[in-house]
Amino acid sequence: MRSVVSDLRKKGKTIGFVPTMGALHDGHISLVTRAKKENDAAVVSIFVNPAQFGPKEDFRRYPRNLKKDAKMCGKAGADFIFVPEAKEIYPEGYAAYVNVEGDLAKVLEAASRPGHFRGVATVVAKLFNIVLPDKAYFGEKDYQQLLVIKKMAEDLDLPVRIVPCPTVRERDGLAISSRNAYLSPEQRKTALVISRTLKKAVHAARDHGFTDAKKLSDSIRSAILSQPGIKLDYAAIRGGTTLEPVKRIEKGCVILIAAKVGKTRLIDNMRI
Ligand code: AMP
Repeated sequence: MRSVVSDLRKKGKTIGFVPTMGALHDGHISLVTRAKKENDAAVVSIFVNPAQFGPKEDFRRYPRNLKKDAKMCGKAGADFIFVPEAKEIYPEGYAAYVNVEGDLAKVLEAASRPGHFRGVATVVAKLFNIVLPDKAYFGEKDYQQLLVIKKMAEDLDLPVRIVPCPTVRERDGLAISSRNAYLSPEQRKTALVISRTLKKAVHAARDHGFTDAKKLSDSIRSAILSQPGIKLDYAAIRGGTTLEPVKRIEKGCVILIAAKVGKTRLIDNMRI
Protein backbone atom coordinates (compact mmCIF):
# COMPACT_ATOMS: atom_id res chain seq x y z
CA MET A 1 0.00 0.00 0.00
CA ARG A 2 2.84 2.36 0.87
CA SER A 3 4.57 1.87 -2.46
CA VAL A 4 1.28 2.31 -4.34
CA VAL A 5 0.62 5.52 -2.44
CA SER A 6 4.15 6.81 -2.95
CA ASP A 7 3.85 6.14 -6.67
CA LEU A 8 0.51 7.96 -6.90
CA ARG A 9 1.81 10.96 -4.99
CA LYS A 10 4.98 11.17 -7.10
CA LYS A 11 2.74 11.42 -10.14
CA GLY A 12 0.79 14.22 -8.45
CA LYS A 13 -2.41 12.18 -8.20
CA THR A 14 -4.96 12.92 -5.52
CA ILE A 15 -6.21 10.07 -3.34
CA GLY A 16 -9.77 9.57 -2.07
CA PHE A 17 -10.06 7.02 0.71
CA VAL A 18 -12.98 4.95 1.98
CA PRO A 19 -12.30 2.93 5.14
CA THR A 20 -14.73 0.03 5.60
CA MET A 21 -15.15 -3.26 7.43
CA GLY A 22 -16.28 -5.02 4.26
CA ALA A 23 -19.58 -6.83 3.64
CA LEU A 24 -20.07 -3.98 1.24
CA HIS A 25 -23.46 -2.63 0.23
CA ASP A 26 -24.91 0.36 -1.60
CA GLY A 27 -24.09 2.65 1.34
CA HIS A 28 -20.38 1.88 1.06
CA ILE A 29 -20.54 2.02 -2.72
CA SER A 30 -21.97 5.55 -2.64
CA LEU A 31 -18.80 6.58 -0.76
CA VAL A 32 -16.53 4.79 -3.25
CA THR A 33 -18.28 6.37 -6.23
CA ARG A 34 -17.91 9.80 -4.69
CA ALA A 35 -14.23 9.19 -3.80
CA LYS A 36 -13.52 8.24 -7.38
CA LYS A 37 -15.43 11.20 -8.76
CA GLU A 38 -13.58 13.73 -6.60
CA ASN A 39 -10.05 12.28 -6.80
CA ASP A 40 -7.66 10.73 -9.31
CA ALA A 41 -7.52 7.46 -7.39
CA ALA A 42 -9.95 5.80 -5.00
CA VAL A 43 -8.63 3.49 -2.29
CA VAL A 44 -10.94 1.29 -0.22
CA SER A 45 -9.73 -0.45 2.91
CA ILE A 46 -11.45 -3.59 4.15
CA PHE A 47 -10.57 -4.43 7.71
CA VAL A 48 -12.79 -5.82 10.44
CA ASN A 49 -11.11 -3.90 13.23
CA PRO A 50 -10.96 -6.01 16.41
CA ALA A 51 -10.15 -2.92 18.51
CA GLN A 52 -13.58 -1.39 18.01
CA PHE A 53 -15.62 -4.41 19.11
CA GLY A 54 -16.52 -5.01 22.75
CA PRO A 55 -15.87 -8.47 24.24
CA LYS A 56 -19.55 -9.43 23.89
CA GLU A 57 -20.01 -7.98 20.41
CA ASP A 58 -20.13 -9.64 17.01
CA PHE A 59 -16.46 -9.48 15.91
CA ARG A 60 -16.24 -13.19 15.15
CA ARG A 61 -19.49 -13.49 13.27
CA TYR A 62 -19.28 -10.12 11.48
CA PRO A 63 -20.02 -10.90 7.79
CA ARG A 64 -16.93 -11.29 5.59
CA ASN A 65 -17.01 -11.74 1.83
CA LEU A 66 -13.84 -10.45 0.22
CA LYS A 67 -14.48 -11.83 -3.25
CA LYS A 68 -17.84 -10.10 -3.56
CA ASP A 69 -16.48 -6.92 -1.96
CA ALA A 70 -13.59 -6.75 -4.42
CA LYS A 71 -15.97 -7.12 -7.34
CA MET A 72 -18.23 -4.36 -6.05
CA CYS A 73 -15.27 -2.03 -5.47
CA GLY A 74 -14.02 -2.63 -9.00
CA LYS A 75 -17.43 -1.94 -10.46
CA ALA A 76 -17.73 1.30 -8.48
CA GLY A 77 -14.41 2.51 -9.88
CA ALA A 78 -12.08 1.84 -6.95
CA ASP A 79 -8.44 1.67 -8.04
CA PHE A 80 -7.06 -0.22 -5.05
CA ILE A 81 -8.38 -2.21 -2.13
CA PHE A 82 -6.25 -2.52 0.97
CA VAL A 83 -6.95 -5.61 3.06
CA PRO A 84 -4.48 -5.82 5.91
CA GLU A 85 -4.30 -8.66 8.43
CA ALA A 86 -5.05 -7.91 12.08
CA LYS A 87 -1.47 -8.83 12.97
CA GLU A 88 -0.13 -6.25 10.51
CA ILE A 89 -2.24 -3.48 12.01
CA TYR A 90 -1.75 -4.61 15.61
CA PRO A 91 1.51 -6.58 15.79
CA GLU A 92 2.42 -8.21 19.07
CA GLY A 93 3.13 -5.64 21.74
CA TYR A 94 1.06 -2.97 19.99
CA ALA A 95 0.47 -0.13 22.48
CA ALA A 96 -0.42 3.22 20.82
CA TYR A 97 -4.08 4.29 20.83
CA VAL A 98 -5.91 7.46 19.82
CA ASN A 99 -8.43 8.76 22.30
CA VAL A 100 -10.80 11.57 21.40
CA GLU A 101 -11.86 12.99 24.73
CA GLY A 102 -14.67 15.33 25.74
CA ASP A 103 -18.42 14.79 25.81
CA LEU A 104 -18.61 13.84 22.15
CA ALA A 105 -16.82 10.60 22.91
CA LYS A 106 -18.65 9.91 26.17
CA VAL A 107 -22.33 10.02 25.19
CA LEU A 108 -24.72 7.81 23.18
CA GLU A 109 -22.68 5.20 21.24
CA ALA A 110 -19.67 5.79 23.49
CA ALA A 111 -21.75 5.18 26.61
CA SER A 112 -23.26 1.99 25.18
CA ARG A 113 -20.03 0.70 23.65
CA PRO A 114 -17.07 1.53 25.92
CA GLY A 115 -13.79 1.62 24.00
CA HIS A 116 -15.53 1.62 20.63
CA PHE A 117 -14.40 5.06 19.45
CA ARG A 118 -10.89 4.48 20.80
CA GLY A 119 -10.71 1.51 18.45
CA VAL A 120 -12.24 3.45 15.56
CA ALA A 121 -10.02 6.52 16.00
CA THR A 122 -6.90 4.37 16.33
CA VAL A 123 -7.49 2.33 13.20
CA VAL A 124 -8.59 5.33 11.13
CA ALA A 125 -5.50 7.31 12.21
CA LYS A 126 -3.29 4.36 11.26
CA LEU A 127 -5.05 3.90 7.92
CA PHE A 128 -4.70 7.62 7.18
CA ASN A 129 -0.97 7.35 7.87
CA ILE A 130 -0.65 4.43 5.48
CA VAL A 131 -2.93 5.64 2.67
CA LEU A 132 -2.13 9.39 2.96
CA PRO A 133 -5.45 10.42 1.43
CA ASP A 134 -6.34 13.95 0.36
CA LYS A 135 -9.95 13.27 1.22
CA ALA A 136 -11.63 10.54 3.27
CA TYR A 137 -15.30 9.63 2.97
CA PHE A 138 -17.53 8.72 5.91
CA GLY A 139 -21.25 7.96 6.07
CA GLU A 140 -23.67 10.07 8.10
CA LYS A 141 -25.28 6.74 8.97
CA ASP A 142 -22.66 6.53 11.72
CA TYR A 143 -23.19 10.12 12.71
CA GLN A 144 -21.28 10.18 15.99
CA GLN A 145 -18.38 8.30 14.42
CA LEU A 146 -18.20 10.94 11.70
CA LEU A 147 -17.99 13.69 14.34
CA VAL A 148 -15.32 11.80 16.31
CA ILE A 149 -13.20 11.34 13.18
CA LYS A 150 -13.62 14.99 12.21
CA LYS A 151 -12.53 16.05 15.70
CA MET A 152 -9.54 13.71 15.61
CA ALA A 153 -8.41 14.99 12.19
CA GLU A 154 -8.83 18.60 13.29
CA ASP A 155 -7.15 18.29 16.70
CA LEU A 156 -4.22 16.20 15.42
CA ASP A 157 -3.73 18.46 12.34
CA LEU A 158 -4.10 15.49 10.02
CA PRO A 159 -3.78 16.77 6.45
CA VAL A 160 -6.97 15.14 5.20
CA ARG A 161 -10.42 16.49 4.37
CA ILE A 162 -13.20 14.51 6.02
CA VAL A 163 -16.16 14.33 3.64
CA PRO A 164 -19.57 13.44 5.13
CA CYS A 165 -21.85 11.43 2.83
CA PRO A 166 -25.64 11.02 3.16
CA THR A 167 -27.16 7.81 4.53
CA VAL A 168 -28.26 5.41 1.82
CA ARG A 169 -31.57 3.68 2.57
CA GLU A 170 -33.57 0.75 1.25
CA ARG A 171 -36.70 1.75 -0.61
CA ASP A 172 -38.80 1.26 2.51
CA GLY A 173 -36.56 3.57 4.54
CA LEU A 174 -34.36 1.09 6.42
CA ALA A 175 -30.82 2.45 6.66
CA ILE A 176 -28.57 0.01 4.83
CA SER A 177 -26.10 -1.73 7.13
CA SER A 178 -23.92 -4.82 6.94
CA ARG A 179 -25.66 -5.94 10.14
CA ASN A 180 -29.07 -6.01 8.40
CA ALA A 181 -27.94 -9.41 7.12
CA TYR A 182 -28.50 -10.77 10.64
CA LEU A 183 -32.22 -9.89 10.56
CA SER A 184 -34.94 -12.44 9.80
CA PRO A 185 -37.68 -11.18 7.44
CA GLU A 186 -39.89 -10.57 10.48
CA GLN A 187 -37.16 -8.70 12.36
CA ARG A 188 -36.47 -6.62 9.30
CA LYS A 189 -40.12 -5.49 9.34
CA THR A 190 -39.82 -4.68 13.05
CA ALA A 191 -36.66 -2.65 12.39
CA LEU A 192 -38.59 -0.34 10.06
CA VAL A 193 -40.08 1.40 13.10
CA ILE A 194 -36.72 3.16 13.56
CA SER A 195 -36.59 4.99 10.23
CA ARG A 196 -40.36 5.51 10.23
CA THR A 197 -40.24 7.19 13.64
CA LEU A 198 -37.23 9.32 12.68
CA LYS A 199 -38.98 10.46 9.54
CA LYS A 200 -42.13 11.41 11.44
CA ALA A 201 -40.14 13.28 14.07
CA VAL A 202 -38.19 15.25 11.47
CA HIS A 203 -41.48 16.06 9.76
CA ALA A 204 -42.97 17.29 13.06
CA ALA A 205 -39.98 19.53 13.72
CA ARG A 206 -39.35 20.78 10.22
CA ASP A 207 -42.82 21.11 8.77
CA HIS A 208 -44.96 21.65 11.87
CA GLY A 209 -42.61 23.85 13.87
CA PHE A 210 -42.40 21.43 16.79
CA THR A 211 -39.55 22.75 18.99
CA ASP A 212 -39.79 21.02 22.39
CA ALA A 213 -36.95 18.49 22.35
CA LYS A 214 -38.06 16.64 25.48
CA LYS A 215 -41.62 16.16 24.27
CA LEU A 216 -40.51 15.01 20.84
CA SER A 217 -37.89 12.60 22.18
CA ASP A 218 -40.49 11.22 24.62
CA SER A 219 -42.87 10.57 21.77
CA ILE A 220 -40.09 8.93 19.73
CA ARG A 221 -39.33 6.68 22.69
CA SER A 222 -42.95 5.63 23.13
CA ALA A 223 -43.33 4.94 19.40
CA ILE A 224 -40.35 2.57 19.52
CA LEU A 225 -41.39 1.01 22.83
CA SER A 226 -44.88 0.28 21.56
CA GLN A 227 -43.44 -1.92 18.80
CA PRO A 228 -42.99 -5.52 19.98
CA GLY A 229 -39.66 -7.20 19.31
CA ILE A 230 -37.46 -4.15 19.63
CA LYS A 231 -35.47 -2.91 22.61
CA LEU A 232 -34.58 0.76 22.69
CA ASP A 233 -31.05 1.69 23.71
CA TYR A 234 -31.41 5.46 23.26
CA ALA A 235 -33.44 8.02 21.37
CA ALA A 236 -31.99 11.52 21.58
CA ILE A 237 -32.23 14.92 19.98
CA ARG A 238 -28.86 16.67 20.00
CA GLY A 239 -26.91 19.54 18.52
CA GLY A 240 -25.60 18.49 15.10
CA THR A 241 -21.93 19.44 15.60
CA THR A 242 -21.13 18.41 19.18
CA LEU A 243 -24.10 16.21 20.16
CA GLU A 244 -24.80 18.41 23.18
CA PRO A 245 -28.31 18.06 24.64
CA VAL A 246 -30.77 20.70 23.40
CA LYS A 247 -34.01 22.00 24.83
CA ARG A 248 -35.22 23.71 21.70
CA ILE A 249 -35.14 21.93 18.36
CA GLU A 250 -33.50 23.99 15.64
CA LYS A 251 -32.22 23.47 12.15
CA GLY A 252 -29.06 21.39 12.26
CA CYS A 253 -30.15 19.30 15.24
CA VAL A 254 -29.92 15.56 14.81
CA ILE A 255 -32.21 12.81 16.07
CA LEU A 256 -30.36 9.61 16.89
CA ILE A 257 -31.74 6.18 17.71
CA ALA A 258 -30.04 2.96 18.76
CA ALA A 259 -32.08 -0.18 19.33
CA LYS A 260 -31.77 -3.92 19.40
CA VAL A 261 -33.92 -6.17 17.27
CA GLY A 262 -33.26 -9.67 18.60
CA LYS A 263 -29.49 -9.75 19.04
CA THR A 264 -28.87 -7.21 16.30
CA ARG A 265 -28.01 -3.68 17.37
CA LEU A 266 -29.09 -1.06 14.85
CA ILE A 267 -28.40 2.68 14.73
CA ASP A 268 -29.92 5.39 12.60
CA ASN A 269 -30.30 9.15 12.63
CA MET A 270 -31.78 12.05 10.69
CA ARG A 271 -30.86 15.73 10.63
CA ILE A 272 -33.42 18.47 10.96
P1 AMP B 1 -18.54 0.06 8.07
O1 AMP B 1 -18.08 -0.92 7.05
O2 AMP B 1 -19.85 -0.26 8.69
O3 AMP B 1 -17.45 0.39 9.07
O4 AMP B 1 -18.80 1.42 7.28
C1 AMP B 1 -17.81 2.00 6.47
C2 AMP B 1 -18.28 3.36 6.05
O5 AMP B 1 -19.49 3.25 5.31
C3 AMP B 1 -18.57 4.29 7.25
O6 AMP B 1 -18.13 5.59 6.93
C4 AMP B 1 -20.08 4.22 7.32
O7 AMP B 1 -20.65 5.37 7.92
C5 AMP B 1 -20.46 4.12 5.86
N1 AMP B 1 -21.81 3.59 5.71
C6 AMP B 1 -22.31 2.44 6.24
N2 AMP B 1 -23.62 2.29 5.93
C7 AMP B 1 -23.96 3.39 5.20
C8 AMP B 1 -25.17 3.85 4.59
N3 AMP B 1 -26.29 3.15 4.66
N4 AMP B 1 -25.14 5.02 3.93
C9 AMP B 1 -24.00 5.74 3.84
N5 AMP B 1 -22.83 5.37 4.40
C10 AMP B 1 -22.81 4.21 5.06
